[in-house]
Amino acid sequence: MVAVHSTTRGPGLGGCRMWTYDDAWAAMHDVLRLSRAMTFKAAVADLPLGGGKGVIMLRPDEAVLTPERREAALLDFGDTVESLGGTYLTAEDVGTSEEAMDVIATRTEHVTGLASGSGDPSPWTALGCEVALRTTCEYAFGTSDLSGRTVAVIGLGNVGSRLAELLHAGGAQLIVADVDQGKRELAERLGATWTDPHGALTAEVDVLAPCALGGVLNDDTLPALRCKAIAGAANNQLASDSHDQALADRGILWAPDFVANAGGLINIAVELEPEGYSTERAELRVRAIGDTLRHIFDKAASSGSTPLRAALELGRERLSAA
Ligand code: NAD
Repeated sequence: MVAVHSTTRGPGLGGCRMWTYDDAWAAMHDVLRLSRAMTFKAAVADLPLGGGKGVIMLRPDEAVLTPERREAALLDFGDTVESLGGTYLTAEDVGTSEEAMDVIATRTEHVTGLASGSGDPSPWTALGCEVALRTTCEYAFGTSDLSGRTVAVIGLGNVGSRLAELLHAGGAQLIVADVDQGKRELAERLGATWTDPHGALTAEVDVLAPCALGGVLNDDTLPALRCKAIAGAANNQLASDSHDQALADRGILWAPDFVANAGGLINIAVELEPEGYSTERAELRVRAIGDTLRHIFDKAASSGSTPLRAALELGRERLSAA
């Protein structure tokens, strides 16, 4: 399935997710929801891109495909992308990788994030998260300096592990958690305190950085939070939009996830610039997440709104201006 939510600002770009769904209805719901989120992520990051998303639906009884069937599915997906004539640009996402993009690229040129282009987005997402976290500290504590700041990182995957390294290099003291015990080694290397995911979520720290799954900020977890600010990579951190107000009521400053984690997408967009890809321009653009976030925090403060509402409003303004 491919959903193209908006081409108002440019072609709809979004990753291709290969995931198990109970039925086609659930997969369609997911692809529509995710494509809409991409429209806002790109607009808020001021990219010349719309929103789109791809889903390759795996059946519950066939969660892992044989190499032959996986290749066949990716080729079919490539044909689907090609049939849309460039209104949708695909990229890697959960369940797909650079190798999958290489297969898709044999059927269509509308593929981004190939090794020959902008490559793995995770280091850029991590850099953008570090910038967002520092900017959040600027507003919450008056300085972006991380020395002595305590940060809890939940999820030490592709993004979380790199973010933890960057924060450690910046002088932050870390509490880290992952369901994968194999990540303890990294914790030791960074001199971080290892705990379980709930312990990290509810730790008394300056900043919480959710870098695993979505929905971590919900009715159950919110009353238990003891952080003063939140900035991390996980998508859809709020169980519902109203939790943004609940965080503000508790005096916790939240960097909207789709602003903080836009680094990977921003990096891909550099590939589409007329001059072609360059890491120098990518770094410059990813670091601009700081200015975007300042704009959002200022707007929220001056209008008595919340960061989420201010970010969505910025996205809508940019869409209507286009
Ligand atoms: P990943 O799969 O590499 O890492 C996720 C990590 O979280 C893994 O180490 C996993 O063991 C751990 N984890 C899973 N469930 C957990 C739980 N309940 N508690 C603690 N740890 C748990 O994924 P990633 O690429 O690092 O992405 C992390 C998050 O950031 C995801 O929500 C993803 O959608 C989002 N994101 C990633 C990118 C990117 O460039 N990779 C871009 C934007 C957003």
